Amino acid sequence: MKDVQAEKAVALADIAADIDSSGICAHLAATATQLVFGVGNPDSDIVFVGEAPGKNEDLQGEPFVGAAGKFLNEMLDTIGMKRSDIYITNIVKYRPPDNRDPTPEEIGEFVPYLQRQLVVIKPKLVVFLGRHSMNVFLPELRISQAHGKPVRKGGQVYLPLFHPAAALYNGGMRETLLADFQLIPLILTKIG
Ligand code: URA
Repeated sequence: MKDVQAEKAVALADIAADIDSSGICAHLAATATQLVFGVGNPDSDIVFVGEAPGKNEDLQGEPFVGAAGKFLNEMLDTIGMKRSDIYITNIVKYRPPDNRDPTPEEIGEFVPYLQRQLVVIKPKLVVFLGRHSMNVFLPELRISQAHGKPVRKGGQVYLPLFHPAAALYNGGMRETLLADFQLIPLILTKIG
């Protein structure tokens, strides 16, 4: 088990090194402090995929460490999980200036690397945090309709959720996100 984890960690480090050497999104790399690749258990059953690093993530080199990350930690706690149980990453791995939305071109450049991360980790469940990551894999869906409904596509199970930053200061959305989050253990049990 530990060997598998170590092998996957090495394979993930190779992907991070490839991003570094590929020169993709050089305009973002030029303004970012560092690559924010992903953290957590490389052999986890669950991968959370956000949008792009913000200011705190850019400074610390880790996804979801700001206010949205604190809320994510609280939600994990409600289902008895810790960050070390899961793997967290973003589609775009350099901070877009001023926290603007990533462009379709930037997303497109990073998608192959996200796919490689998923091939290495082989999670049972991929949880999308927000519409940007959902639309990479499920372009036909709208987050307002799709949140909290697991989708099986191409042998992979996906769960779209509202983005924690969007839900943070919106009472109704926050309640919905918390309720949707409670489905995660059930979905994992069903997948087996
Ligand atoms: N929002 C994201 O989508 N990702 C982060 O890492 C932080 C905030």
